[in-house]
Amino acid sequence: MCGIVGYLGKKNNALDVLIDGLKSLEYRGYDSAGVAYVYNNEVKIQKEVGKIIELEKMVNYNDFSNIGIGHTRWATHGGVTKYNSHPHKSGKITLVHNGIVENYEQLKIDLEEQGYVFVSETDTEVIAALIDKLYKEFNNLLKVINMCKDILIGSYALAIISDDEKDTIYATRKDSPLIIAYDENDYYIASDVPAILKYTNKYSLIENNEIIKISFDKHEIYDINLNKITKEILIFE
Ligand code: GLU
Repeated sequence: MCGIVGYLGKKNNALDVLIDGLKSLEYRGYDSAGVAYVYNNEVKIQKEVGKIIELEKMVNYNDFSNIGIGHTRWATHGGVTKYNSHPHKSGKITLVHNGIVENYEQLKIDLEEQGYVFVSETDTEVIAALIDKLYKEFNNLLKVINMCKDILIGSYALAIISDDEKDTIYATRKDSPLIIAYDENDYYIASDVPAILKYTNKYSLIENNEIIKISFDKHEIYDINLNKITKEILIFE
């Protein structure tokens, strides 16, 4: 087990939220950690093997960012190396992943045949390449993320930023936990409630195959058929 955190909002520096959140998820176990955030209209990635403190030493908190995703990894595919740490980027797609993709080997072969080059040994980088490839074809990230449920076998919680939509975070899950949390127009996503309690106690549980789309002042949640849905808001006491 391991963790995901995401933040999009105006009240905080994403780097503070991500590092705080990842520290709150340390109890879940991990071997490496990383963040991706938007700064100067660029998606920046920082990742390190070992404790979150190692990542914290490398992160430039002066990069004040309003959008970011973070990850603690428990290696399942590929050794504990910086290259295998998350976030992974392929083409325009940057993402973090908790879980295991059981059919990643065949998907990887297919994607390599189509010209994708992989820098890690992970199943996760295959998801990034798959989404990038489908996005080139369909030009609609929401639709593409929804299509992945019929292609990926296994478990996943994903948080995704696209180079084409640097003001938006998408997230989805299947058999790995995911919540969305709210503080007015600031939005958080996480594997578990402790990650966001410093900032808010209002949250909703995301069910399998639902998709979160958060952007400034707006959040949308879609069901498996891409219908917009409203979630019950829970209060953590
Ligand atoms: N299977 C992925 C990997 O080995 C994700 C592991 C995790 O859940 O942290 O990188």
